[in-house]
Amino acid sequence: MKRFFSLFLLLLLLLCSGCSAPTVGDTGTFNEFFAMDTIMRVTVHGDAGEPAASAAREEIERLEKLLSRTLPDSQVSQLNAHAGEEDAVALEGDLISLLTFARSLSADLDDALDITIAPVMDAWGFTTDHHQIPTQAQLDALLPLVDCQALEIDPQAGTARLPNVGMAVDLGAVAKGFAAGRAESVIRAAGADSALLDLGRNITAIGVKPTGEPWRVAVQDPQDSNLYLGVLALTDQTCSTSGGYERYFEEDGVVYHHIIDPSTGYPAHSGLLSVTVVSPDALLADALSTALFVAGPERALDYWRREGGFELILCGEDGVVTATEGLEDAFAFQGEDGGYTYEIARR
Ligand code: AMP
Ligand code: MG
Repeated sequence: MKRFFSLFLLLLLLLCSGCSAPTVGDTGTFNEFFAMDTIMRVTVHGDAGEPAASAAREEIERLEKLLSRTLPDSQVSQLNAHAGEEDAVALEGDLISLLTFARSLSADLDDALDITIAPVMDAWGFTTDHHQIPTQAQLDALLPLVDCQALEIDPQAGTARLPNVGMAVDLGAVAKGFAAGRAESVIRAAGADSALLDLGRNITAIGVKPTGEPWRVAVQDPQDSNLYLGVLALTDQTCSTSGGYERYFEEDGVVYHHIIDPSTGYPAHSGLLSVTVVSPDALLADALSTALFVAGPERALDYWRREGGFELILCGEDGVVTATEGLEDAFAFQGEDGGYTYEIARR
């Protein structure tokens, strides 16, 4: 009964936040499409709703053609295809700036985030969905190729180069956040100031709802898709969630998920079931949710205490949900149904 009630509440919430069925007219322009391997939903309110929503979709589709590793003609595929060659590859400014951002954040986070993780993703079969467990010998051979600090970037020339044969870039951890940030700019430039972008676990709230209230977004229980940990009130912020429950396979009763610890080549087991990052910067939110899932709760909170610009909801394997103090008012914890307890982390 409790579970049924939670499901009902969740549906109600999603309806309120505008991320369910298509709507037009008073309730805004709703655009649903498939890109970057996920279903995306763009809702824009106001007179500029229709052109703004179309422009956002076009921008996301443009970026997918640039950033995808599976589209053979993308710029990332070209960069990867020329790994180990002497000449650097000419790339668009958007890609150069994303590579530069990811490399620098990786250095700040002791390599928990590494966009050159591609060869290891392939070894686990996550790229093709033909999953397998690589041998230790395979991983030992591949791990030296995972080294995003070796990625050479020349922003002046607009080029980049992967120095070793077999190296490859996978932007899965950051592409949707980057696209969300760009779509947000496009929507604002089109004159709209009330919108919700749902790019697959990256939710960007622009302005407030037409009622004047903040957008409300449910944070899923990583152990039960029918339940949720709580509800976030968001205004001009993105919330991005990473967890092992999103993509995984099971073999002999062991779960292997898609977020890899670059220091071992194995799915990260840092004591966290999911990490939600809330920030005005959509790219930062996406990048950090993946990176801090790898880093684990202590390093995540240390990083939060050291840096500004984002807040966290950590769901621990021990059943403790920790929100950082900036979310004290914005996050309504409702994880009791899933057996969780709740704590606030302070600076
Ligand atoms: P996200 O859903 O944003 O947490 O990103 C997960 C995706 O990022 C995976 O599907 C991989 O494509 C990629 N990835 C996995 N592990 C890492 C890592 N340690 N650093 C960078 N990218 C990763
Ligand atoms: Mg991410």
